[in-house]
Amino acid sequence: MSEKKKPKLLYTRAEMFELNKKLLLKRGVTIEAIAEISFKQQSKYTDNVTRELCIESVEKILSLRDVFHHVQLACEIDRLAEQKMFQGPIQDIIYEDLGMFGIDETMGLEVAGLYGTIGQTNFGDIDVNKHGIVKRLNEAGKEDGICHTFLDDIVGAIAAAASTRVAQVTNEELAHEDEHVQRLSIFDL
Ligand code: MG
Repeated sequence: MSEKKKPKLLYTRAEMFELNKKLLLKRGVTIEAIAEISFKQQSKYTDNVTRELCIESVEKILSLRDVFHHVQLACEIDRLAEQKMFQGPIQDIIYEDLGMFGIDETMGLEVAGLYGTIGQTNFGDIDVNKHGIVKRLNEAGKEDGICHTFLDDIVGAIAAAASTRVAQVTNEELAHEDEHVQRLSIFDL
C-alpha cells in the first residue's frame, strides 16, 4: 500500500526567503524596489542611511514566518481575483479594489506591526503617500486583468518594517557610541 505523501508545512528561513523573493518577482516586485521606499523614508530622519542596510532589512523581513504566510496568501488572493476564481460579492470587491474594503490594509498593518507602533506609522505614511513601487503597483492594478489589491499593502508593509529596522539598527549603533556600553552579540535586531 502506498503511503500518503505528508504535506510540507514547515519551511526554513532560507526557504521562506527564497519562496517570497521568487513570488514577489513573479508579481513584478524586486527586493531593491522595496528597499528604495525604506531608504527614502529613513533618509528623512537619519543621515548616512545606506541602501545596503535597507536591502539587508528587507531580506531579513522576507525570511520571517509571519511575513512568509502573509506574502504567500496576499499574492494568491490577488491571483485568484485576477482569474475570477472567487464566488459571490467578494470577487468584484477585491478585483475592483474597493476603497472601503480595508482587509488588505489590515494585513499590511499586521506585518508592519511586527516592528511595533513605529512600523505601523511608517506603513500609514506609505499607504497614504504611495511611494515608488507601491504607487506603480496601485496604478497597474487598475488595468484590465491585473489585481494588486493585497500586494500593494504587503509590499508597503515590508518597506515600512524594513525602514523601522533600519532606524533600530542605527539607534543601536548610536547607543554604542557611549564608551561605557559593552557590546553584546546576543541581540538580533
Ligand atoms: Mg490595497
